[in-house]
Amino acid sequence: MKKAIIIRYCEIHLKGKNRGFFEKLLRENIKKSLKGIQFNFTSMHSRYLIEDFDDCDLEIIENKLRKIAGIHTYSIANVVDNDLGQIIDCVLALCEEKCGTFKVETNRADKTFSPNSMETSRLLGGKILEKYAGKLKVEVKNPDFYVYVDIREDGKTFVYSDVVHTLSGMPVGSAGKGLLLISGGIDSPVAGYMTCKRGMKIESLHFHSYPYTGIAAKEKVIDLAKIVGEYNGGMRLHVVSFTKIQEEIHKNCPAEFMITIMRRFMMRIAEKFCYNNGLQAIITGESLGQVASQTIESITSSNSVVSIPVLRPLIMFDKNDIIDISRKINAYETSILPYEDCCTVFLPEFPAIKPILQKVIDAESKLDVDGLIEEAMSNIETIVV
Ligand code: ATP
Ligand code: MG
Repeated sequence: MKKAIIIRYCEIHLKGKNRGFFEKLLRENIKKSLKGIQFNFTSMHSRYLIEDFDDCDLEIIENKLRKIAGIHTYSIANVVDNDLGQIIDCVLALCEEKCGTFKVETNRADKTFSPNSMETSRLLGGKILEKYAGKLKVEVKNPDFYVYVDIREDGKTFVYSDVVHTLSGMPVGSAGKGLLLISGGIDSPVAGYMTCKRGMKIESLHFHSYPYTGIAAKEKVIDLAKIVGEYNGGMRLHVVSFTKIQEEIHKNCPAEFMITIMRRFMMRIAEKFCYNNGLQAIITGESLGQVASQTIESITSSNSVVSIPVLRPLIMFDKNDIIDISRKINAYETSILPYEDCCTVFLPEFPAIKPILQKVIDAESKLDVDGLIEEAMSNIETIVV
């Protein structure tokens, strides 16, 4: 039987005069994501329709739809003509594998179709009970499943039952552009995913400390960037060599401030990169109090060197909740691979948990901050994943 996919969005409904902008972006994002697949795409009253695709592409299409921010739900419908006989057969076939209680909901946009929607629902309900007596029962208030019958003006009727909930959020690209600071850990890929889900298009920046951190550590970050990129319509990953900066800090500054000063360098480089590339915010995977570098004093210290907005989607999340999302997006197994990150190199035994800003600034004054940043920025590798 012919199939169609009905796609619905949610929060875009709340938009006023600029609603068209969000709808257009979502349409474009869906089409881009399904590039290479044959299908027909139409809009219908705040919903989108995908039709005329090859049945063997259905699973691929569903997997893509599940990763497109802005889509709230979708349903796979069977398509028949606006013909009562065909509709009855289709509804009965749909109920074949069902059990429990049901309710039929008919929507009749084709006003030439008779009977009307109430009567159609009643008639179909009767047919279902007749055929599946003992197995299925009507329940109007809280049924186990619905049978939706959508009789459209263009002569087609959609029959379906399941409504699959997907990402929700807002279309990627509707909330500006940002730079994700991505490590090989659990948190930053989750922060990136959440940013895409809210509609910000992101690029990623990773600090690599070769040879202290090896090729495998970098490969792991590429894999994570790829996973986040599935929600972002692809990903550009920029890799900055951090080795010299770390060595200089290690050589010239008190060990307790190693991490704090490293963070300040990361933020400065990220901000410069944003300004050079038209990006509007830095995104990190920090979570309040999770480690020494994420106390409010540490965050104050790293935040104070930049003026660009720093978004921290996970700031009030517990680790377990972050892990749940990491598993959901299939990043967890990659994130826990045991490769070192630049933050674990030169890690002092007793990092300052509440660094005093003035002491950090004094310690940092031993370094050629501008020179080191310029050198790091002159040699950035960009990988399109
Ligand atoms: P994650 O799980 O994301 O690695 P974490 O809990 O290990 O985070 P930190 O090491 O303190 O915490 O890092 C805090 C944030 O700083 C990270 O979420 C990430 O945004 C950024 N960050 C850390 N290391 C790097 C790196 N090597 N390159 C780019 N960004 C980094
Ligand atoms: Mg980390």
